[in-house]
Amino acid sequence: KAINPATNEEIPVWVADYVLGSYGTGAIMAVPAHDERDWGFAKKFNLEIRQVVSPLSAGPVRIYDSINDALKKAPQDLESAIEDYEKIKAGEKIYTQYGILINSNSFTGLESAEAVKKISKKIGAELKAQYKLHDWLISRQRYWGAPIPIIYCEQCGEVPVAEKNLPVVLPEDVDFRPTGESPLVRSASFQKVVCPKCGLPARRESDTMDTFVDSSWYFLRYCDPHNTQEIFDKKKVAAWCPVTFYVGGAEHAVMHLLYARFFSKVLRDLGYVSFNEPFLKLRNQGLILGEDGQKMSKSRGNVVNPDEIVDKFGADTFRLYEMFMGPLEEAKPWNATSIIGIRRFLEKVWSLSLSAKPTENLHLSNEARDELSYWVAKTTKKVTDDIVNFRFNTAIAALMEFTNYLQGATLPVAEQIKVISVLLRLLYPLAPHITSELWHRLGRQGQIWQQAWPEYDPKALRLNQVILAVQVNGKLRGQITVKADISEAEAIKIAQANIDVSRHLAGKTIKRTIYVAGKLINFVA
Ligand SMILES: [Zn+2]
Repeated sequence: KAINPATNEEIPVWVADYVLGSYGTGAIMAVPAHDERDWGFAKKFNLEIRQVVSPLSAGPVRIYDSINDALKKAPQDLESAIEDYEKIKAGEKIYTQYGILINSNSFTGLESAEAVKKISKKIGAELKAQYKLHDWLISRQRYWGAPIPIIYCEQCGEVPVAEKNLPVVLPEDVDFRPTGESPLVRSASFQKVVCPKCGLPARRESDTMDTFVDSSWYFLRYCDPHNTQEIFDKKKVAAWCPVTFYVGGAEHAVMHLLYARFFSKVLRDLGYVSFNEPFLKLRNQGLILGEDGQKMSKSRGNVVNPDEIVDKFGADTFRLYEMFMGPLEEAKPWNATSIIGIRRFLEKVWSLSLSAKPTENLHLSNEARDELSYWVAKTTKKVTDDIVNFRFNTAIAALMEFTNYLQGATLPVAEQIKVISVLLRLLYPLAPHITSELWHRLGRQGQIWQQAWPEYDPKALRLNQVILAVQVNGKLRGQITVKADISEAEAIKIAQANIDVSRHLAGKTIKRTIYVAGKLINFVA
């Protein structure tokens, strides 16, 4: 008989060869509603699956409250959040994240983190972190690596290389033909040493260190790379580290990043660094896949060679396309056709910049002036925010829209020169070569990278327009930008014509329309 100590309810006991060996020994308590494996077991044997944690951030009330906020970010996130929520509610999907406790007697309504503490206290348990650590064997039988500075003497045993003789440098008299041993074993200059202790002939350690040893502290050495006296100058590391923002592949989450933290903590304990964590913020970039959607590899023959792309389209097109392909974190397949669109965009920027139209006496109406200020403000804000948040793809999209607007606008020369200067400065971090060249060709002073980042008037951001969320049967299907004082009938007409919305209305009869001025339209069909 087993009693759940948190609820005092009796729980069924099952004996099965199912618990993972790495989990430990003894009995475990299963949580069928919130653990993948327990869920599978409960489904198989028709056990009760009682949900006790509800998805906090995907609750329908919160979705409605924050609809405008969510719209600004990504409508598809909102949609999938609603779908997930409905599936979880229906018991078709498992929820394994933190949330709010439900069906939990006195703990109902608590957030998970808080509940863990309260439940532990009630049952008299203590929170303890479990580490599954093993020793790390760092020696490798290969040439490329930092030599392990140890000398073997028949008299004295293992003797460290004297500090004044560090670092031990890799030899050049090596033969790389395969023998099953490291080339260092057969390098005479490397092997022939004398014992630092007794001076008798001795042998040098021929293993080198795992390169993870180097990557565990390279960011500290980068702060003081030419120091020949010590690992680094503490003051320099204190000035530059910890690393504010780390961008790397997700494959580093379990090894490199963990080892780097170990090294940092040891160096902290030894007084070399004063921080606890080496990296304050981490973002994983996604892989660029081959055109077939598979990981690029020579054997698959789907490798895209950057040099060829640069030769054909230029370096700016190449880098801009990589940034434009999609969100930084996502894996994205290369597309040889899409890159042409980026090349055309840069060609557009080029011809626009060099074609000041002869409209010297043109008078700009108040409305046209407002529109110009609006575009400058909107684009500057968007590109600035997006670059800070690594959303390069949407920054580029905003610059494309801005360029299209400028192509269609008729502006006095003075205004045109001003606004092109804004466009070039916003585009510079993303496409530095073409913008530097244009800056020069336009006869501008100094280098483009010496210029201040564009500023904008926040008041100009309001162009008397609002964005309406358009739903079909309560699900977000699109959004429309309309005049703030638009009539209900007119807004509904525009919403129905929206391509994303009309797709979901096709073949249906609209029974009712809910209109919330300035916010949303919901078609019940
Ligand atoms: Zn010796």
